[in-house]
Amino acid sequence: MDNHLQETLLKKGRLLPVMEHFYTLQGEGAHAGVAAYFIRLGGCDVGCHWCDVKESWNAELHPLMDMEALAKNAAEHCKTIILTGGEPLMWNLSILTKKLKSLGCRIHIETSGAYPLSGEIDWICLSPKKTAMPKKEIYAKADELKMIIYNNNDFKFAEKQAALVNKDCKLYLQSEWSKREEMYPKITEFILKNPRWRASVQTHKYLNIP
Ligand code: SF4
Repeated sequence: MDNHLQETLLKKGRLLPVMEHFYTLQGEGAHAGVAAYFIRLGGCDVGCHWCDVKESWNAELHPLMDMEALAKNAAEHCKTIILTGGEPLMWNLSILTKKLKSLGCRIHIETSGAYPLSGEIDWICLSPKKTAMPKKEIYAKADELKMIIYNNNDFKFAEKQAALVNKDCKLYLQSEWSKREEMYPKITEFILKNPRWRASVQTHKYLNIP
């Protein structure tokens, strides 16, 4: 395929860089424990220093895949699809989500919100990062706010972000994995004082599943 055609298909969202795709249980947040098909798109420039999928950052390292074919394959496994990354909103998700919807899927996204929304999404898990703040429009649409707690300052950042989301948005605090022993006691204490928050744990890491 020539480069120009490839660029056009990438822009339209017909081809997107895919780091991995797999059927497993959602480990964290509001749908922890639910069977879901994950599509992890390559590419992220948000730059969290503690990121546990740094291999995703360079989109050029990941093969371009046909989104209609990938959607068909995913829907054969499961009707709950999780789009993650990387930062999946760096890409045009309209073709992928349209095909998934036509196959009866419910589509979740995990995003920092740093790029505009695209496609048809049923559940938005917004996880804001200080290095690239979310676009304003996404706060009203977020179904779940998942704040990663790496240090004590992150509680203040979490409260500021919670003030921006809609009133039905579920609020989660999740320790960054390497800090879990230090931060979960603090998260527990915080939630006991602020019970509209809930704790999220990366259960997939304990279950040894992807
Ligand atoms: S937004 Fe996600 S993928 Fe991107 S650097 Fe941060 S944790 Fe990693």
